[in-house]
Amino acid sequence: MDAQGRTPEWVPQGTEGTYASVVRDGVEGGHDGMPGASGVVSQPGTDRVRRRALDIDEYVNGVQSGDRVILGRTITLIESNAPAHIVLAQQVLTRLLPFTGRSLRVGITGVPGAGKSTFIESLGSHLTAAGHRVAVLAIDPSSSITRGSVLGDKTRMENLARDPRCFIRPSPSGGTLGGVARKTRESMLVCEAAGFDVILVETVGVGQSEITVRSMVDFFLLLLITGAGDELQGIKKGVMELADAVVINKADGENRLRAEALRADTARALHYFAPATEGWTSPVLTCSALHGDGIAGIWTTAGAFKDAAIARGAFQQRRSTQMLEWMHSMIDERLRTHFLTDPDVQRLLPGTEQAVKTGAMTVAHAAEELLTTFERRHHRTEP
Ligand code: GDP
Repeated sequence: MDAQGRTPEWVPQGTEGTYASVVRDGVEGGHDGMPGASGVVSQPGTDRVRRRALDIDEYVNGVQSGDRVILGRTITLIESNAPAHIVLAQQVLTRLLPFTGRSLRVGITGVPGAGKSTFIESLGSHLTAAGHRVAVLAIDPSSSITRGSVLGDKTRMENLARDPRCFIRPSPSGGTLGGVARKTRESMLVCEAAGFDVILVETVGVGQSEITVRSMVDFFLLLLITGAGDELQGIKKGVMELADAVVINKADGENRLRAEALRADTARALHYFAPATEGWTSPVLTCSALHGDGIAGIWTTAGAFKDAAIARGAFQQRRSTQMLEWMHSMIDERLRTHFLTDPDVQRLLPGTEQAVKTGAMTVAHAAEELLTTFERRHHRTEP
């Protein structure tokens, strides 16, 4: 950090301002940002660009004035694991916090190929045309391995990426799901402070990430398609019971009748689940994301959901519960890291795991021994 509390940031050349440019033109505000804006300094003869460090006021004012380059940089700051950046990011977030919360947060999940990006492109364009400002974020803990199956493909959401009322940010890559989720949650808050009134959070419906997205959104939407099989679509994994609306996509052409049949079957199946949101009966709708049919109706449903949930107090209650869950999951994550990086625990763990596997030690005994070892060291080091 320098005397003003600013931390220089180094980024690979070509990714400046928009790490989107490595992903796709236009994403993450690149289309609004002037090259060289926000303190970008090219260093001749190097393959890196030094960005002038911003101070807290510059971050905060930039976000609030809707400067897309600074918005992108603030999210990059949030995504950084460097200790100095973590401190600065929290200071920026604390300043922005009073201006957050005024959006509808929508989660969208579905198996690969269900049409999520086509749907987001269609819904997003519908919303920006109606005057909304839309931020699209993603959670894809696998993106460091697959190089971004969510929002990472150059061809995805091309029109929306060029829409000045929309901001698209690919999933933070790497790290645990917990780490990725924290970054996405905080990015969501920054986008709200920047005046985006609809946040769409996309995730691939293939694992734990749907539950994570459910834990950060107001309205959770599951996209299904015909012919993919129940198992594949997460119906048996309990994702369906988290959904505030289920949408059968690709209801067009020859597939229209099959989509209608799946709609009716899904609606029947939903009867067996407890409501995802108290007092709300999750509807099953059809749409064609490709042709835009049914998209307006889905947004009307989201609005009806919001009104109903606010009227019953369920909306605010979910948000406060989410904040508490978020705090506890951060504590859990930190304690777990602390535990697993403890030298005594690291020394004992392989043998203990082996003993549990072979049945030489009970699970309870093993856990007790490791935890006692950990606690003993920490009592020793306390004053
Ligand atoms: P994602 O993996 O869930 O993001 O799915 P994509 O949006 O990439 O869509 C997968 C494929 O399905 C692409 O070839 C899309 O063009 C196609 N697709 C998406 N929505 C529709 C739709 O409403 N109707 C039809 N016929 N095809 C669609």
